[in-house]
Amino acid sequence: MKQHQLSQAVEAAHIAEIRTAVRQLCRRYGEDYWLTLDRNRGYPTDFVRELTAAGFLTVLIPEAYGGAGLGLREAAVVMEEVCRSGAHAGACHAQMYVMGSVLRHGNDEQKKRYLPAIAAGELRLQSFGVTEPTTGTDTTNLKTTARRDGDVFRINGQKVWISRIEHSDLMVLLARTTPRDQVDKKTQGLSAFLVDVQTAVGNGLTIAPIDSMINHHSCELFFDDLVVPRENLLGEEGHGFRVILDGMNAERILIAAECVGDGRYFIDKASAYARERVVFGRPIGQNQGVQFPIARCYAEVEAASLMVEKAAELFDAGEPCGAEANVAKMLASEASWRAGDVCMQTHGGFAFAKEYHIERKFRETRLYQIAPISTNLILSYIGEHVLGMPRSF
Ligand SMILES: Cc1cc2nc3c(=O)[nH]c(=O)nc-3n(C[C@H](O)[C@H](O)[C@H](O)COP(=O)(O)OP(=O)(O)OC[C@H]3O[C@@H](n4cnc5c(N)ncnc54)[C@H](O)[C@@H]3O)c2cc1C
Repeated sequence: MKQHQLSQAVEAAHIAEIRTAVRQLCRRYGEDYWLTLDRNRGYPTDFVRELTAAGFLTVLIPEAYGGAGLGLREAAVVMEEVCRSGAHAGACHAQMYVMGSVLRHGNDEQKKRYLPAIAAGELRLQSFGVTEPTTGTDTTNLKTTARRDGDVFRINGQKVWISRIEHSDLMVLLARTTPRDQVDKKTQGLSAFLVDVQTAVGNGLTIAPIDSMINHHSCELFFDDLVVPRENLLGEEGHGFRVILDGMNAERILIAAECVGDGRYFIDKASAYARERVVFGRPIGQNQGVQFPIARCYAEVEAASLMVEKAAELFDAGEPCGAEANVAKMLASEASWRAGDVCMQTHGGFAFAKEYHIERKFRETRLYQIAPISTNLILSYIGEHVLGMPRSF
C-alpha cells in the first residue's frame, strides 16, 4: 500500500514538473503571437522548433532513438498545457500520434532511419493522410490505390483536409493495395506508407491549400502515379488499417487532452473576467446567472480530464483502450465547446473583439466535435462495440 502511494506521488511530481516546464515555454509565445498567425495564416515555426528542441514534441520516442521515452500520459499533459496557454496545438500535435504508428509498426530499419532524426528536430513527421472527399468517415471504402510495380508502389487518388503537409517531411498515408471485392473483410487490403513529402511534391503529388475557418494548414492532395519505394511500407501489406487504428486511439486521447486544455483556458478567462467586470455596481460574477454556467463547465472539464487520464494509462499499459479513447474525446470536446460558449457569453460584446482571443479559441475548439472523428461516429462505436447493439452501417 505504501509502495503504491509512493509511486503515485512520484508520478504526480513528474507530471507537475512537465506542466511547469511547458507553461514556461508557452509564456514566451503569448496570445498576440497566435492572433497574428491566425490573421496571416502563418505557421508557428519558432514555437514548434522550441517545443521540439526542449524534447516535448518527441516525448514518445524511446531513449535509444534520442527521445525521452515517456508515455502518452506525459504527451497528453504537454498538449493540454499548450492549449491552456492560448496556443493552437493543431500546428504540431500530429507528430505525437503519427509517431505511435511508426513506433508500433515500423521495422528496425525504419526506426533507425527516421526516429533519431525526428528526435533531433531534423525531420518533421506531421502529416496523416486518411480522409478522402468522396468517402469521408467510411475509411475502409477509400478510393486511393497503391499498385505494386516491382520494388515500388504507384499511388493514385485524392485526399482532403490533410493538415500540416506543407510543414512536414514525412506523411503516413493510407491506400488500398487489394480491391475491396477481393478481400474477406473491408478492413483488409489497405496498406500504410511513409511518404517522403519533399521528394513527392511535383513528382506525382500536388498539394492545394484549403481556405478554412481556422488556421490548421489543411490541404487537398492529388496523387498521380506517385512512386513510393517498397521499403516505405509501414507494417505488413494489406494490414494498414491496424497501423492507422493504433495511431487513431493515440490521436483521440491527445485531442481530448487538448480539449481539456481549451476548456481550462476558457474557464480561467471567464472566471477572471467575471471577477473583474463591474456592471450595475457589482462584479458580474456575483450574479449566479453568470457564475453557475462557469462552475458547471469546471465540473464537466474535470470529469473529462479523468477520462483522458484513464485512457492514456490503458494505452501506455498496452491494454485495449478504444472505448476509453472515444469516450474521453467525446466528453472533452463537448466540455471545451460548452466552456467556450460560456466564456463568450461571460465576456458579452468584448468576446467578439479579436484582441480578447476568445473567438479564435472558440473557432479552434469547435473542430474537435468533427475531427478526427465526429461525435455521431463515437456514439455509434459505443453503441456497437461497448454495448453490443446492432451495427447501423
Ligand atoms: C480542419 C480539419 C483538419 C483535418 N485534418 C485531417 C488530417 O490531417 N488527416 C486526415 O486524414 N483527415 C483530416 N481531417 C478530416 C476529418 O477527420 C474528417 O472531416 C472527419 O473524420 C469527418 O469526415 P467528413 O468530413 O468526411 O464527414 P462525413 O463522413 O461526410 O460526415 C458528415 C456528417 O455526417 C455524420 N455521419 C456520417 N455517417 C453517419 C452515420 N452512419 N451515422 C450517423 N452520423 C453519420 C457525421 O457524424 C458528420 O457529422 C480534418 C478535418 C478538418 C475540418
